[in-house]
Amino acid sequence: MIHEAEKRARDLRAALNRASHEYYVLNSPQMSDAEYDRLFGELQALEEANPDLTTPDSPTRRVGAEPAKNLEKHQHRAAMLSLGNAFEDEELVAWAERAKKIVSSAADMGFNLELKIDGAAVNLTYRKGILEVGATRGNGTTGENITANLRTIPDIPLRLRGNGWPDLFEVRGEVYFPLAAFENLNRRREVAGEPTFANPRNSAAGSLRQLDPGITKERGLRFFAFAVAADKTPLTRTQSELLDLLASWGFPIAPHHQAVDTINQAVSVITKLEKIIPDLDFEADGVVIKVNDLGLHEELGVIGGREPRWAIARKFAPEVATTRLLNIGVNVGRTGALNPYAHLEPVEIGGVTVSNATLHNMDLIAAKDIRIGDLVEITRAGEVIPKVLGPLRSERTGGEKPFSPPDSCPVCDTPVHRIEDEVAIFCPNTDCPGRNLEALAHFASRSAMDIRGLGYQRISQFISNGLIRDVADIYKLKADDVGKLEGMGEKSATQLIAAINDSKAQPFSRLLFALGIRHVGAGVAKLLVKSFPTVELLSAADTDSVLAVDGIGDTIATAVTAFFGRAENRFLVNRLRESGLTLAEEIRSGTLDGSSIVVTGTLPTLSRSDASQVIENAGGKVTSSVSKKTTFVVAGDNAGSKLDKARSLGVEVIDEAELLRRVNQTL
Ligand code: NAD
Repeated sequence: MIHEAEKRARDLRAALNRASHEYYVLNSPQMSDAEYDRLFGELQALEEANPDLTTPDSPTRRVGAEPAKNLEKHQHRAAMLSLGNAFEDEELVAWAERAKKIVSSAADMGFNLELKIDGAAVNLTYRKGILEVGATRGNGTTGENITANLRTIPDIPLRLRGNGWPDLFEVRGEVYFPLAAFENLNRRREVAGEPTFANPRNSAAGSLRQLDPGITKERGLRFFAFAVAADKTPLTRTQSELLDLLASWGFPIAPHHQAVDTINQAVSVITKLEKIIPDLDFEADGVVIKVNDLGLHEELGVIGGREPRWAIARKFAPEVATTRLLNIGVNVGRTGALNPYAHLEPVEIGGVTVSNATLHNMDLIAAKDIRIGDLVEITRAGEVIPKVLGPLRSERTGGEKPFSPPDSCPVCDTPVHRIEDEVAIFCPNTDCPGRNLEALAHFASRSAMDIRGLGYQRISQFISNGLIRDVADIYKLKADDVGKLEGMGEKSATQLIAAINDSKAQPFSRLLFALGIRHVGAGVAKLLVKSFPTVELLSAADTDSVLAVDGIGDTIATAVTAFFGRAENRFLVNRLRESGLTLAEEIRSGTLDGSSIVVTGTLPTLSRSDASQVIENAGGKVTSSVSKKTTFVVAGDNAGSKLDKARSLGVEVIDEAELLRRVNQTL
């Protein structure tokens, strides 16, 4: 019996240690968090029942993972800990009872509740109020020095405000990816034909450990503070007062924290918080419950050098469903990238029936050993497209088939091309009908030329009827020819031609983005146009002058010059000019230049990302928390604490219509 337990403990340790390495060091987890937590719980129970089985290298005794070798190490002044987990309310109540028994003055032990931000833990050392070092948590005692990267995060104070801070102390908190920034990054990567990132948490951790701070900066990470380590602690009587003190020094504090008197009150507040989490603009995977009286923390101590007894994380089961992977399909993107996706046995998740999910890239399928016929776990967070987390290997019957990436393009059959250091494989045929369809659809899409009524179906129909081959042909379409096609009446043909004509007035930066030059997303196109306001200037520029544009790196500069270097592309641009498209841009300063704006609640017509786009187009910056520096807040229905905070700080609050009026747009 003990033999069996010993073997199981060994297997669990090995599986969890491997998963930790993939999660913390490679930032590429191959196991779902739910599975990790389940195996971790099993190992913990096994070690509790057989204490002899506990080894010093057990994941139950350790925090995180060893710091990476290529980054400078940093020794924390005091250990950075992990947290124990509770998945049920009963476990929470039992935790509070255990804590009460330990402390001498148990009578009125209150708690502070905070959202558990799902990002990467960091430690900021301040000397005389100035940020000196920023580091990752690493193994809890030694982290990685990432000061240059952390300095690029706009809400980490480089110099503290207010007064009363210790001469030398550390502030702990979480760096996270706002969901809008994460989706933006993935959209940009998709446009650039680069593989998308699987989740905000791991890409935040990966973005922090870049060797080039410029990359960290452009990702749009943010920070929330929640703890300190100083020679003389506590700095305040309670955790809730500490959060207020940190805020007064200029640190952003996560919203919705709340102090309660009893664990039963905690349970009912947590039930409410669980409902709010899906609407937040960042990921939170639970609520942290902390004994509010900081004087009791030392008395309560730490278990196994890993988890404090004075805090616990109430985690919420993520929305994960299990279903059968029926097949793996491959799409051809506009840049020729071949993207795998999963055909699933339909399954309900988060109230939606899902039968397709993304598999991100070919390497991921191999790394996770996903086979056709596997039972797989899938998840769907917020509005994000469903994704496959991984297979349930223990459920295999032997009939599952490994997937081999195609050797040729599934549309035109041209042999695929692999670019060194890139995980995607490509169809190199620039005339591939699959690529062509995607390129035309991208050109007409809302964020590009915005030609209403010109979607995939119409484009396919026009191609198969020989009406268009490339984007310049769109502007040669005639209402008479279009109107004769099946399913197109005279009226819809006239409307479509009008929409096509209207699109000629789209600014040059939009057209540049619409052309689908590799690595040139909407933001890059704007940057380029600022320095090269006409197509003549841009197409004549050499790689060095494109590289000189702030924010443009090697890859983009090479892609841009290669595009204009090809005769067929210059010919295409000429045809677009003949049709009257806008190939120069007058640079005006935006109406919201220099403003910092918060959007909260549900707006009547604009989605969050549309509203952000409108603001950014007008030169404004979208931030996630309200402070005195906020220029104004755009509030919609069900706006919560941000609206309250704006009112309490006297920050102006406007609605969507007023926003659009200010940026000179109408609905
Ligand atoms: P954790 O993430 O469960 O909790 C500890 C961390 O929570 C702290 O370090 C802190 O950074 C963070 N935190 C966020 N908000 C906080 C707040 N308000 N107050 C205090 N702390 C706050 O623990 P961990 O040790 O970082 O990671 C363990 C978890 O990571 C596992 O439970 C699992 O879900 C996941 N994991 C997954 C894999 C995998 O392969 N999928 C592998 C390893 C770990």
